Amino acid sequence: MPSRILVTGGAGYIGSHTVLQLLLGGYEAVVVDNLDNSSEIAIKRVKELASERGSNLTFHKLVFSSSATVYGWPKEVPCTEEFPISATNPYGRTKLFIEEICRDIYQSDSTWKIILLRYFNPVGAHPTGYIGEDPRGFPNNLMPFVQQVAVGRRPALTVFGTDYGTNDGTGVRDYIHVVDLADGHISALNKLSDASVGCEVYNLGTGKGTSVLEMVAAFEKASGKKIPLVMAGRRPGDAEVVYAETDKAERELNWKAKFGIDEMCRDQWNWASKNPYGYEASK
Ligand code: UDP
Repeated sequence: MPSRILVTGGAGYIGSHTVLQLLLGGYEAVVVDNLDNSSEIAIKRVKELASERGSNLTFHKLVFSSSATVYGWPKEVPCTEEFPISATNPYGRTKLFIEEICRDIYQSDSTWKIILLRYFNPVGAHPTGYIGEDPRGFPNNLMPFVQQVAVGRRPALTVFGTDYGTNDGTGVRDYIHVVDLADGHISALNKLSDASVGCEVYNLGTGKGTSVLEMVAAFEKASGKKIPLVMAGRRPGDAEVVYAETDKAERELNWKAKFGIDEMCRDQWNWASKNPYGYEASK
């Protein structure tokens, strides 16, 4: 297996020469370049000069990881990419700002190809249980918290809000298996090679809404563990129901989430039971 080298600015003067030497030296090169002072033609020529090794060169622009948080408390669901966007907290505002900067960049220079991916609620873990989510300190998100209750690290899950206008009164979200989400990036990268791409936004969700209590029930089934609950008031800034319209990603990225909540919970529990105290405990 040849080593793969990330070369930032690899389309530039020094970069292109270095990339060629890397390819000729048997390396694979991954070039990231914003082309502000360089040309994509340099990449093409380096490929040609490297002849059969040219296929070891890949070139990328930009895929930005945004978040469904930019939909705030949507007026209706499912959320389409055209919905108005807003921010209610610093995290959300970083997403909103960077999305806007990306759109400005494209407006000022239409040679850019940019894909903004709006993640819904990633959960689960790799099916091997070898990698997964291991938040430092107090988990803010639902499933890392549930997982810590299941392994005995926390006594109970606090359910934030039981009086929403949903079937069981708890908040509804669009949970998506992290492996499906990761695959969405590959589809986005493939899309960037499409000449027609400018600056596009895609939702990465399943299109299905699941309540907190439904998620807890699915996790209990997958793990065989009882999750004690403490019912509490709403968490400030939380929306009632958020789930994605997934048609655009399906149509234009050729991507669709494969896994449902049972598989998400199965894989989350597999990871949690093998790594109850996360990565550090296994050092
Ligand atoms: N939630 C909860 N208890 C927790 C964490 C989250 O009841 O300890 C609820 C939260 O109110 C929301 C859902 O679980 O309805 C998902 O919350 P999370 O923070 O994971 O995602 P986000 O709200 O950012 O979509």
